[in-house]
Amino acid sequence: MPFKDLALDPRLLRSIQHLGFDKPTEIQQEAIPAVMVGRDLIVSSQTGSGKTLAYLLPMMQRLLKSRALSKQDARALILAPTRELAKQVYAQLRLLVSNTPVTAALIVGGENFNDQEKILKRQPTIVVATPGRFVDHLEHKTLFLQGLEMLILDEADRMLDLGFLPQLTVINKAADHRLRQTMLFSATLDHAEVDNLALALLKNPYRVAI
Ligand code: AMP
Repeated sequence: MPFKDLALDPRLLRSIQHLGFDKPTEIQQEAIPAVMVGRDLIVSSQTGSGKTLAYLLPMMQRLLKSRALSKQDARALILAPTRELAKQVYAQLRLLVSNTPVTAALIVGGENFNDQEKILKRQPTIVVATPGRFVDHLEHKTLFLQGLEMLILDEADRMLDLGFLPQLTVINKAADHRLRQTMLFSATLDHAEVDNLALALLKNPYRVAI
């Protein structure tokens, strides 16, 4: 199946073409249509499966197609366990937001807090973050999540292993409303803690295991 059969916005299809990709990977073929019809998603995936675009593409599609719920709040939040992963995700996202009105910010630990505050005050559409630093900003009231439409947890199992459950709980509560769509990616799904997190965060999720 070629990418153009996925009914994505032409701007996204152009970015994919620019990357030189012809066909969605298996995980993308499963995940993209499910997210585009509004389902929550739970995916067992390894790095190298194309999992990043499996969530970035349908997330961008929703942001480009629908009006913001709130003019002030971030519309999508992507959480990753490490700065390195957050940076890799942000690099892929930068390609997709170019030539669109969507803006993105990277908020990770180890960088200047005040500089990040300035970036967040410009109200980026999408934030890619590590949970610890993100919650610091949330507690500082630099940004709000009442208008959050999409919450994505990349490598959720590693976030739990690193002890981020309290931060994930705070974020889930701050962004709790019925229009939110949530996607959880994990290397393994047979892990009681991942199961509990999925129960707390997801509504009737579509399950992808490849
Ligand atoms: P990920 O699993 O998201 O870390 O992606 C692994 C690598 O596959 C990255 O370098 C992506 O740019 C690349 N990739 C993602 N989707 C595709 C695709 N549909 N065709 C070829 N390569 C892809």
